[in-house]
Amino acid sequence: MSSTERPVTTTDAGIPVASDEHSLTVGPDGPLLLQDHYLIEQMANFNRERIPERQPHAKGGGAFGSFQVTADVSRWTRAAVFSPGEKTDVLIRFSTVAGERGSPDTWRDPRGFAVKFYTRDGNLDLVGNNTPVFFIRDPMKFQHFIRSQKRRQDNNLRDHDMQWDFWSLSPESAHQVTWLMGDRGIPRTWRHMNGYGSHTYLWINAAGERYWVKYHFITDQGIETFTQDEADQMAAVDTDYHQRDLYEHIRDSQFPSWTLKVQVMPFEDAKTYRFNPFDLTKVWPHGDYPLQEVGRLTLDRNITDYHTEIEQAAFEPNNVVPGTGLSPDKMLLARGFSYADAHRARLGVNYKQIPVNAAKVETHAYSKDGAMRMKNVADPVYAPNSYGGPAADPSRTDDGGTWSSDGEMVRSAATLHAEDDDFGQARTLVREVLDDAARDRLVTNIVGHLLNGVSEPILTRAFAYWRQVDADLGAKIEAGVRAKQDEKDPKKDEQGNPARSSMQSKA
Ligand code: NDP
Repeated sequence: MSSTERPVTTTDAGIPVASDEHSLTVGPDGPLLLQDHYLIEQMANFNRERIPERQPHAKGGGAFGSFQVTADVSRWTRAAVFSPGEKTDVLIRFSTVAGERGSPDTWRDPRGFAVKFYTRDGNLDLVGNNTPVFFIRDPMKFQHFIRSQKRRQDNNLRDHDMQWDFWSLSPESAHQVTWLMGDRGIPRTWRHMNGYGSHTYLWINAAGERYWVKYHFITDQGIETFTQDEADQMAAVDTDYHQRDLYEHIRDSQFPSWTLKVQVMPFEDAKTYRFNPFDLTKVWPHGDYPLQEVGRLTLDRNITDYHTEIEQAAFEPNNVVPGTGLSPDKMLLARGFSYADAHRARLGVNYKQIPVNAAKVETHAYSKDGAMRMKNVADPVYAPNSYGGPAADPSRTDDGGTWSSDGEMVRSAATLHAEDDDFGQARTLVREVLDDAARDRLVTNIVGHLLNGVSEPILTRAFAYWRQVDADLGAKIEAGVRAKQDEKDPKKDEQGNPARSSMQSKA
């Protein structure tokens, strides 16, 4: 662009500025003048550029695309977005969980897999992960869990000791920790991982019949993972590898896609199913509820402004459209409150008017005013009214009648289903899904993680935790850790290592 074609620099008020490079001073070496408004505006803006990072899921990236329905699932849901032939714009954000905004993409961690569908009935958000389960099942523990994965208060360092302290005191974490320590704990790229809604959701068809569903976005690129060594090397040379990979593939028209499949459970099955179907630490085995195809999600448009399109993107599980709903999963119900609350705290009360979050259909809410409001409700500003303001239409919603619940107010960890234990599904993953080589890598990864700063008595508790998943796995992990401890501390051999001798005597 020649200098005559370049736009003229202006202040934020549109006034042409005198210089991009020199501030206004009294004489060439003189003091600065406060009336150099453009200098002050630039400095003030710079000081306010960063908004609070997400707590957690701070590091992430994403893209735009579309979701095309390829099958007929209308017998289970009346949602427009899942109706035959429908095509809907989507936004996706991938992320790590525990790392801060500048942290490496290739750290071992679950990945966020958040999808916003801009549907003709308003926005539907599926705020999932690349794992079908989670570490805990009660939201009371969520804040504590995340704190255990972040940084210590004293030295500001991450600390495997507190991670394993929390996990080994929370046996319901075993399924997710097994998954995390296995091959899939480090995806090669965001394109090479599945996404899961993880929670159980509700679907309602046109006749009002209800079904429980789990969403699975199966990668069309195939699953590919990094070993720990590959991931460590990549973290050293390119902290933004996953973000770069996605951006470059979309830029080069190699559009990644995922096939959306659902597991569908008839409403009444929930009461008698062998697992609590609303327990976020459990999957529904495919043999019980097979995957049913719904459609294909394709990413084909890169972002052009990271801050406005990704950093300010606000996904919230309570964005459910007619034909879909929440379930009695306690984690899901808590997220319904906490995500919207987090967005109000980070982005302000009017975050839904930020263009990337705005529905693509007209909104007629009675909410009004507040900081950074762009558009308001017109008079009348109240309901009910006699002046033609918006009026609710219950037939357009599924509110009420979705599910019922009664009972005493309790704080309960009751297990009401036959196979509601903490270790069974982790054991199935270890024994029936992983092969020998994958099991060996699992042991190596866990041993390496435990050797990185985990102290007694947490270490011994961690061995017991793995023995409950699988006795042989637990024994191998303990042997692996003790052998390395002995290598590091030759005195232990001279004095005798009680832990080691007890293990040898068992062998
Ligand atoms: P299936 O044999 O029908 O399916 C096994 C699942 O495990 C497949 O979805 C497979 O994904 C996935 N898988 C393969 N390798 C790994 C790995 N290293 N880490 C995590 N997942 C892996 O079994 P079931 O449905 O009966 O479930 C058995 C166990 O499989 C469960 O206890 C659970 O741990 C795990 N699993 C189950 C899922 C479910 O929704 N039922 C989903 C994911 C895991 P892929 O098809 O892509 O190879």
